[in-house]
Amino acid sequence: MSIIASQFGNDVPDTIENGYFVFTIMPTLHCPYNCKHCYLSLEQRRDKSVMSIETMRSVCRKIDAYWDEVQPSQRVVMVYNYGGEPTSVGPEYFEAYVAMMAEEFPASKGYEVKHVMLTSLLGVDLDVWAPLWLKHSDGYVQTSYDGGMRSTSYVRKWEAKVREAIKRGLRVATISVVNSDLLEQGPAETIELLEDLGVCETGWLPFMLNEQNSVPGKYDRYAPTMEAFNNFMIQMLDHWYALRHRGRMPPSIGEAHFAVDRARRNSASNLCGQTLFLLPDGEFVLPNYKDG
Ligand code: SF4
Repeated sequence: MSIIASQFGNDVPDTIENGYFVFTIMPTLHCPYNCKHCYLSLEQRRDKSVMSIETMRSVCRKIDAYWDEVQPSQRVVMVYNYGGEPTSVGPEYFEAYVAMMAEEFPASKGYEVKHVMLTSLLGVDLDVWAPLWLKHSDGYVQTSYDGGMRSTSYVRKWEAKVREAIKRGLRVATISVVNSDLLEQGPAETIELLEDLGVCETGWLPFMLNEQNSVPGKYDRYAPTMEAFNNFMIQMLDHWYALRHRGRMPPSIGEAHFAVDRARRNSASNLCGQTLFLLPDGEFVLPNYKDG
């Protein structure tokens, strides 16, 4: 949100009706990992099916047809590729859908298309991917960070990958599922650790019940209460301000930006359109968090 807001000032489009669409695609659910908070089942993560470019094209045509009817003054499409592990389908696939969307969403019709990928970064060949993100994603990439929950050796390897990505000129943002290990690490230490790595933006989500953690005791072991989640966020924001007063540059906290930004806009701009996911078989779904 902050990227777009800074580019369009106060006239920023903020709903699909006035020309802003967060298009969350999951062309594959395949991922080699087994995170405790993952909302995908084991079967989904081991499934190598990939949405065809032509199916994705037909979805893009529906968006374009809708905007031809509504005629917004701008047409901004934020394409978030959230997987699974989106890099697992290979660089050619990424280049193919970027090219297809450039055809379907042309600048001549007022389109501005941004491509963002959320990757674990682990096992990702930066020789291949860093140039692609520099070329197609303004050098911006998102990666997940969940403290020690995925094991200390995972975090060590991940930190090395983040430093390497930044050294190659990428801007790295993190998305974290707040869990008991992060609470134990503490909000101040967590934001400082991400600052030290050179992370530019952060996002924070509550821990959801799912297939991986629904066995007795597991969910309760990792999931903070909503009160603990809120306290973590408030303390982190307080610490963020304290760091800024000292002249430091901690990464921005997406939720704080979002709250301030939405308060200035109309009530429809707070609708959660971005939690609609386009699955490999073409279904557009809302995740069912209640039943995992
Ligand atoms: S890396 Fe992402 S998709 Fe893979 S298991 Fe972990 S949370 Fe799920």
